[in-house]
Amino acid sequence: MNDFRMLIDGARVAGESGSFDVINPATGAAFAQCPAGSLAQLNQAVDAAGNAFKQWKHSTHEDRCKRLHAIADDLEREAAELARLIVQEQGKPLALAMSEVMGSVVWTRYSAEQEIPVELVEDNANQRIELHRKPLGVVASITPWNWPFMIAVWHIIPALRAGNCVVSKPSSLTPLSTLRLVEIIARHVPKGVINIVTGERGFGGAIATHPNINKIVFTGSTPTGQSVMRAAAGNLKRLTLELGGNDAAIVLPGTPVEAVVEDIFKAAFLNMGQTCSALKRLYVHESQYDAFAEALAAIARRQVVGDGLEPGTDFGPVQNLDQLELVSALVEDARAQGARVLTGGVRLDRPGFFYPPTIVTGVTDGQRLVDEEQFGPVLPVIAYSDVKDALRRANASDMGLGGSVWGTDLEQAQAVAGELESGVAWVNCHAQIQPNTPFGGSKLSGFGVEFGLEGLLEFTAQQLKFVRKAAPQ
Ligand code: NAD
Repeated sequence: MNDFRMLIDGARVAGESGSFDVINPATGAAFAQCPAGSLAQLNQAVDAAGNAFKQWKHSTHEDRCKRLHAIADDLEREAAELARLIVQEQGKPLALAMSEVMGSVVWTRYSAEQEIPVELVEDNANQRIELHRKPLGVVASITPWNWPFMIAVWHIIPALRAGNCVVSKPSSLTPLSTLRLVEIIARHVPKGVINIVTGERGFGGAIATHPNINKIVFTGSTPTGQSVMRAAAGNLKRLTLELGGNDAAIVLPGTPVEAVVEDIFKAAFLNMGQTCSALKRLYVHESQYDAFAEALAAIARRQVVGDGLEPGTDFGPVQNLDQLELVSALVEDARAQGARVLTGGVRLDRPGFFYPPTIVTGVTDGQRLVDEEQFGPVLPVIAYSDVKDALRRANASDMGLGGSVWGTDLEQAQAVAGELESGVAWVNCHAQIQPNTPFGGSKLSGFGVEFGLEGLLEFTAQQLKFVRKAAPQ
């Protein structure tokens, strides 16, 4: 387990700054060492990517398509081992980690088949105008700890597909599955096309200010995204910022509890609630408030909480102690203001960072648990009496990643969803994503999208080719 290395210019290398512990959140103990790179190594990785770009940008659609399918084949073949590593460093149950890897396979194959069109703007006797798309050069990928493998795939694969070369920098809390991912990718692309550096030594800031990085695709918290944006101004880097969310869901009056409550629970507690687009505030009409809260609490009590590698576990630990303490503090703050914790609400007395699924009622807007992104296993259930008012409160957030409306009247639900101030508005579902649908936030949840053609084009610069047909005589 201790053979993790960075990859720079096709070579597996140790970190010049030594190594650091990677903690298994199910035990709270270190289970592996990750290389700690130096800033000199970061610069080497950027140089390698810049050099490789000179050739890679000319590779054909067919060539890239073949290579990406070969990567997907390897991911599929090695899925079981990759999934175990994800569980060890991230904490999620094995079946969910397996779906993270297999989802990555699906995304990779989708990207492999994507083509970048040349748009014909005008063609007449005098002139022909075409809009072309060119790769940007060196793309840096900065990823968080919640879906470490899948998010790295979402960044790296389309960047390569569009003809860029990449330097990956994963979260130091979950770097190992990305190191393995990069090794797999590197088997199928020329050296320097993909590189990875690990270690905290100011890498984030160094990447954001680096003059030879042309774009950063960043997924993480809003404050870090803001600091990336400030620092990236020097060479006007292109940015895709997938930041925090505090997604609201509104359940319209009369929605049958049993028909939707399982889906609502899953949307809120996906990955122990550590999902950017998880449902994080649930607005329920006062006539059904108790029924919904009790039904959610009943599902929460059924969850088997434990080590993700133990058979039968459906709910793993929180990924790190800081996050657990934040969740715990938000619940305590609500409790102090008179909220009722129907189930959960106390850290489990065992090694590791376990906090059971927690349902809180008697909370409202203006309290931290509702207003802040809790990013963990707790759901505040908030009563409303008027749909318009629920909508106003749902929109009264700086965040605008996703949101959802649940109800039997599809027309009404769609109309309300259309009023949500969010990058995605779901009806009768939440946190549904797929490779062909552009996904991204509004307001402080970021800008730019991933997935679909729009997502791929984020890794390109446009070049307008304007040809006057009458050649000079
Ligand atoms: P984070 O912002 O703390 O860290 C994200 C990454 O940024 C890590 O790799 C970290 O090492 C790096 N980093 C730290 N300081 C930096 C700096 N100054 N410059 C550049 N990079 C720096 O976020 P996190 O705690 O790892 O992840 C949780 C957050 O990510 C939540 O807010 C969640 O909502 C968000 N998220 C958003 C999406 C989305 O698609 N919108 C998806 C997943 C997670």
